Amino acid sequence: METRKAGEKRDLLGMTIEEMKAFATELGEKPFRGKQIFQWVHRGAASFDEMTDLPKKLREKLEKEARIGSLALLEVQEDPEDGTRKFLFGTAEEGIESVFMQYSYGNTLCVSTQMGCRMGCRFCASALGGFLRDLTAGEMLAQVLAAERQTGQTINHIVLMGMGEPFDNYENVSRFLRLMHAPEGRNMSWRHMTVSTSGLIPVMKRFGEDFPQVNLAISLHRIDDEARSQLMPVNRKYPVKELLAAARQYTEKTGRRITFEYALIRGENDRPEDVSSLCAALKGMLCHVNLIPLNSVEETGLAGSSRKRAGEIAKQLEDAGIPATVRRELGTEIDGACGQLRLRRGRTGDKLNR
Ligand code: SAH
Repeated sequence: METRKAGEKRDLLGMTIEEMKAFATELGEKPFRGKQIFQWVHRGAASFDEMTDLPKKLREKLEKEARIGSLALLEVQEDPEDGTRKFLFGTAEEGIESVFMQYSYGNTLCVSTQMGCRMGCRFCASALGGFLRDLTAGEMLAQVLAAERQTGQTINHIVLMGMGEPFDNYENVSRFLRLMHAPEGRNMSWRHMTVSTSGLIPVMKRFGEDFPQVNLAISLHRIDDEARSQLMPVNRKYPVKELLAAARQYTEKTGRRITFEYALIRGENDRPEDVSSLCAALKGMLCHVNLIPLNSVEETGLAGSSRKRAGEIAKQLEDAGIPATVRRELGTEIDGACGQLRLRRGRTGDKLNR
């Protein structure tokens, strides 16, 4: 439960329906009022005035005792080509990003789970900015509601691939997933949610038990231990062999296909021999490989492979019986990759431009 100073208003945003009912009771109301408030909050109501089916007296009580958390929007960038929109929320010192993407199957929001990140991946802009703090479930939900308000569209898929390592903030992340699924609220199907991890094995195991229907993506990027440890320090604790064994176990237990993300870095992991070892390692696993030409981040000195090379690699994988796709590049005109927008603002100190 949240800690709260005396006199401070209760934030309704991250509350479960049970907590909302208990809160209504605390206010001397019937529990079903809690359900009504929950519905309003999850529909995106920004004020108690909008909750027109609540008695006026209750709305006044809520005004005094509660608030609906939100995030300050600092900047919006839109890619004129494909309508991808990137939002930077927070304060000048601390920012988080969400990316709104339109696909043929619906609208997806890429959600951040932490302010910054502790994983230190060498190619990633979030790592460069350092770690500030975990986000609450309410702050993750606030990204969804704000993106809907801004775009006027409904988000029907979420991917936890924004800033942060979701499995390094598991309690808040699992609360957020449950909130998104709540039938009285957004009622989002588990299968419309994807969580991406750099490979924290113990939490991954727990996730497989807690959320067997939510999609799991693993950021693999390299297949040999020494090279992966260089690129992703988390590999020193959870090496490739153990990670792949846990992945195999996950697919066997849940019957769900795993996605491996593989950021293509020119000359580092896109050579024919890299692809052969990738094929050998994944052979026979219920999986899919998502190839992403690296979005280059100036500070890292690393460059992405060409789309042509990405296509060749996809073919080599497919020929070996491993389903592979090259991720459609969305938002390349804006700073589309994890943590880039925040990083650029830090570099130039520029202000809200829209
Ligand atoms: N921490 C989690 C989720 C956040 S990152 C994870 O590691 O999976 C989401 C994905 O974007 C990861 O696969 C990450 O490796 C990738 N990524 C980060 N920076 C990137 C960049 N500059 N170009 C391409 N992919 C990047």
